[in-house]
Amino acid sequence: MAKQVVVLGAGMVGVSVAWHLLNRGYDVTVVDRVPPGQETSFGNAGIIQREAVRPYAFPRDLATLLRVLPNRSVDIRYRPTSVIRAAHPLLQYWHHSSESKYKKLVPEYAALIMQSLETHDEMITSANAESLIHKEGYLKLFRTQKAFDEECTRAASDNANYGVEYEALDGERVVAMVPSLTVPLAGAIHWKQPWTVTDPGALVEAYAADVKRKGGAIKHSSLTGLKRQGRRWLVETNTDVFSTDQVVMAMGPWSAHWLRQQRIDVPLFAKRGYHMHYANNSNSPLKYWVMDAEVGYLLAPMRSGVRLTTGAELTALDAPTDERQLDAAENVARSLYPLGNRLDASPWKGGRPCMPDMKPVIGPAPDQEGLWLAFGHGHQGFTLGPVTGKLLGQMMDGEPTDVDMQPYRVNRF
Ligand SMILES: Cc1cc2nc3c(=O)[nH]c(=O)nc-3n(C[C@H](O)[C@H](O)[C@H](O)COP(=O)(O)OP(=O)(O)OC[C@H]3O[C@@H](n4cnc5c(N)ncnc54)[C@H](O)[C@@H]3O)c2cc1C
Repeated sequence: MAKQVVVLGAGMVGVSVAWHLLNRGYDVTVVDRVPPGQETSFGNAGIIQREAVRPYAFPRDLATLLRVLPNRSVDIRYRPTSVIRAAHPLLQYWHHSSESKYKKLVPEYAALIMQSLETHDEMITSANAESLIHKEGYLKLFRTQKAFDEECTRAASDNANYGVEYEALDGERVVAMVPSLTVPLAGAIHWKQPWTVTDPGALVEAYAADVKRKGGAIKHSSLTGLKRQGRRWLVETNTDVFSTDQVVMAMGPWSAHWLRQQRIDVPLFAKRGYHMHYANNSNSPLKYWVMDAEVGYLLAPMRSGVRLTTGAELTALDAPTDERQLDAAENVARSLYPLGNRLDASPWKGGRPCMPDMKPVIGPAPDQEGLWLAFGHGHQGFTLGPVTGKLLGQMMDGEPTDVDMQPYRVNRF
């Protein structure tokens, strides 16, 4: 009889886990309160980031801290009460961002990132989703020579250590590639390998449709309780109760709440991001995804318009929208590229599910047989969903894993 599993969460991570478990012969049910790919995995910048071998560290240099403190910078904002409430994980984040700790965790993070393209590729082919994918990389723009030179040094090292492919472009070559840019630039890094997705939510939907085609069930229900019943698990929702051998917790930023009820305390915190779509106002429409690296926002030519995504706002997951960061990013973006009118009635918001040591949690819940964890992918969950599914499948079947999974275990804190 097929092994039963209920996957909680139908974001990029949950759907990818379901896809891999179906291929392994599991009887899979995915539960989500919204259709697949409608939360964090919907509103991101849509980059499958093969270059992102260095996760986002907490800024520790005095100049950045002084810049961020007045709470007016474009890249990072915070709400003081939320910072106080999340003080413990944020202090741990600071701690893990020290030079020596960070140096150790980069190869662990890179081990996952390096498998991102091939693991998406097999799912894209199986889901017939090629029309959503562009394979021309993306551009990280620099306004000052100093920052550009520093990035060139990091890129050369990442090329040598992790096979990251890039080209350093001077200002003239950037304008030749993106003629509509209206600000003089020191240069740009053209990351060659990343794939860009013109509708990130639609890619998750396509993967979910493939899950259904392979015989998986996707239930549109809200989780209300998770309980042990002997050796089995009872998953209670507002529509059904499922009795199952195994459960995978893949509820992104909402995972910590449910794990606390299993007496598993995880220092998960959210970095809010916003997006807005704009009409194209240029004779030469944006072709490449461009990140204004020193300011801290990104422009992505998506199906629904030019999507501007913001940096991080440290706030509670359910805090009301504060448009000031988006407004500030939009102001700067309008001077970089001729954006047209806003196309959405209100900004989209979502919370990147972040762990203090910047690595996701992938593996078994200790002392809770049959409960598996897959969350906390921070800034790169869209990239890392498929590799997470592959590795978790190997662990659940007791096979040797393609990478050492110790760095991602939940009890590392
Ligand atoms: C502005 C922005 C830009 C980003 N850009 C990129 C990028 O370019 N590349 C990249 O790799 N990553 C990017 N990210 C990060 C990425 O979007 C996330 O890491 C990723 O989407 C997390 O996926 P997930 O499946 O873990 O979570 P989610 O997609 O949030 O899925 C969790 C699911 O759990 C469900 N759920 C919650 N509670 C319940 C309940 N009670 N019952 C049932 N279901 C429930 C939710 O409905 C949701 O569908 C970006 C993030 C933001 C905010």
